[in-house]
Amino acid sequence: MTAQTIDGKARAARIIDAVKRAAEALRHETGTEPGLAVVIVGEDPASQVYVGSKARTAKECGFKSVKHVLGADTTEAALLGKIRELNADPTIHGLLVQLPLPGQIDEAKVIEAIAPDKDVDGFGLTNVGRLSTGAIDEAFVPCTPAGAMILIRDVVGDDLSGKTAVVVGRSNIVGKPMAQLLLAANATVTIAHSRTKDLPAVCRGADILVAAVGRPEMITGDYVKDGAVVIDVGINRIAAPEKGLSDDGKPKTRLVGDVAFASAAEKAAAVTPVPGGVGPMTIAMLMANTLTAAYRAAGKTPPG
Ligand code: NDP
Repeated sequence: MTAQTIDGKARAARIIDAVKRAAEALRHETGTEPGLAVVIVGEDPASQVYVGSKARTAKECGFKSVKHVLGADTTEAALLGKIRELNADPTIHGLLVQLPLPGQIDEAKVIEAIAPDKDVDGFGLTNVGRLSTGAIDEAFVPCTPAGAMILIRDVVGDDLSGKTAVVVGRSNIVGKPMAQLLLAANATVTIAHSRTKDLPAVCRGADILVAAVGRPEMITGDYVKDGAVVIDVGINRIAAPEKGLSDDGKPKTRLVGDVAFASAAEKAAAVTPVPGGVGPMTIAMLMANTLTAAYRAAGKTPPG
């Protein structure tokens, strides 16, 4: 079987286009310009890249976009103070703190400090609770699983009744909310993790297999049922000596997912690539969530 490659980049571009038009309509009707604030603590290079691309896309959508860069030695109190300030700022509708945070700061405390109606990452307990109790329309759903779910719906359909789904990974930001979304769409869901016995056999039971593990190309064709839809959330940077050396003398690198694409594609009906699959959808969903927050703040019903 030759699997379909699910084009997350093109799908994300369509979402961003729709967000751009809806932002323009909101501005026209109410004068409200959606505002996204991203707070970053320290100089982690991967975080800098993510924050840069979030800010760029926000500008592309016609949003007000602000970035607050705090030093790596910032105290928890100073960060909480910045969050309080942004919570109170009426021009900011979406507020996120780039994770991970330096060790002196309690991440859970920081996430909980973000006002639930500005928590566009959907990591705070209010939004987690809404998602888990089925109040999905009121929740901000974490952007990566929300984006993955759109790709799944595109390929499989809105109602996953009778389908089995396996999510490999149980993190709060990907695995658990992914499982909640699949469950809400009526799939029969298994969450697998590092303590799962005979993972390949568990995965081979899946009509929909989501890999959110953080292990380069771990999910090979041996884990994939014939005709399954495989969603690769993983983003792993690995050495690519075949590309030669960088200026610093170290081997160049490349991005790979948690799925061994070619091997999985021999069995699957459809697979997301890395890059160009779930990654671009994550940023698109952040824009969609920020737009929703701005519509709500303006007393308007957000577009679907
Ligand atoms: P975490 O490290 O928080 O969670 C990884 C999960 O995988 C854990 O539940 C862990 O199990 C499980 N796991 C680890 N090793 C194995 C194994 N050998 N067998 C089975 N399960 C295993 O990662 P995240 O959820 O934050 O991210 C997962 C991946 O998704 C990463 O590659 C990350 O870079 C990527 N990512 C991509 C995003 C995007 O925009 N596309 C956004 C966020 C993340 P246990 O709980 O037992 O330890």
